[in-house]
Amino acid sequence: MKARNALLAAFTLSTLATAVQAADEVVVYSARIDELIKPVFDAYTEKTGVKVKFITDKEAPLIARLKAEGANTPADLLITVDAGNLWQAEQEGVLQPTKSDVIDANIPAQYRSSTDSWTGLSLRARTIFYSTERVKPQELSTYEALADKNWEGRLCLRTSKKVYNQSLTATLIEAHGAEKTEEIVKGWVNNLATDVFPDDTALLQAIDAGQCDVGITNTYYYGRLHKQQPDLKVKPFWPNQDDRGVHVNLAGAGVTKHAPHAEQAKKLLEWMTTPEAQSIFAGVNQEFPANPAVAPSEEVAAWGTFKADSVATEVAGKRQAEATMLMDRAGWQ
Ligand code: FE
Repeated sequence: MKARNALLAAFTLSTLATAVQAADEVVVYSARIDELIKPVFDAYTEKTGVKVKFITDKEAPLIARLKAEGANTPADLLITVDAGNLWQAEQEGVLQPTKSDVIDANIPAQYRSSTDSWTGLSLRARTIFYSTERVKPQELSTYEALADKNWEGRLCLRTSKKVYNQSLTATLIEAHGAEKTEEIVKGWVNNLATDVFPDDTALLQAIDAGQCDVGITNTYYYGRLHKQQPDLKVKPFWPNQDDRGVHVNLAGAGVTKHAPHAEQAKKLLEWMTTPEAQSIFAGVNQEFPANPAVAPSEEVAAWGTFKADSVATEVAGKRQAEATMLMDRAGWQ
């Protein structure tokens, strides 16, 4: 009898704890690092009183953890980068659809999952960067043209293992089909000045140092490096302005399949698409707000405006396997 009462008491306590949690807390698993999410959550807590608890890790362990925890997960929201990763999370069954008029109104459809399983929150262009000492911008035109003979021994690329390049290749396949894309990618590989780089920053430094003349990286890496090194002899170029536009990818989030506080998670996600949150979320990482009504920070605006590819970003996920095999066949390490 005593044991039964203790059990009952424990049950009541844990039920109570859950009820209290549900009212004022959201738990986030984030592949975006602390300093890029905490300012947004702090602003939300200040505004609403709702506490946001979070852990950060790489996307693969976070998705594995969500799968392992299943219905017992404490996580309400998953934040990660690249539509390719968000699409993967959706395929792994760790997200649930969140239908929201607020999100639909704030974020263009191309930056959201077609099943409402995730939404983009900030945008980054994966664009061409060139040496201001050895390249005139007039010599540049498209991603495809970097396969031309003219760039032989002058191009730097990051490893094909990184999802960013897989997503870029996926959108090329969407635009040109596999055969032509393989030709383009082979052309890039033939034009490499040196081995592929493990990260975008090292690539930009290689252009600055004269190891190569052009390369493809995400805009915020340039923003960070340029801040440290204002005399960087590297500039962005916006390719494909006469056809489909610049490849744009995103950081985004979705409510988890077994979110204990799904309603609170939805409210937080909705708020994150509003101008107040968008300025912070994009601003801390020199990204473009995903909400087109919100202006980018001054330093990002200084790079100029461009036409972005209007392809649905989830194509990056849908064609990821195809892209990875194609890059392998083309010899992109
Ligand atoms: Fe990155």
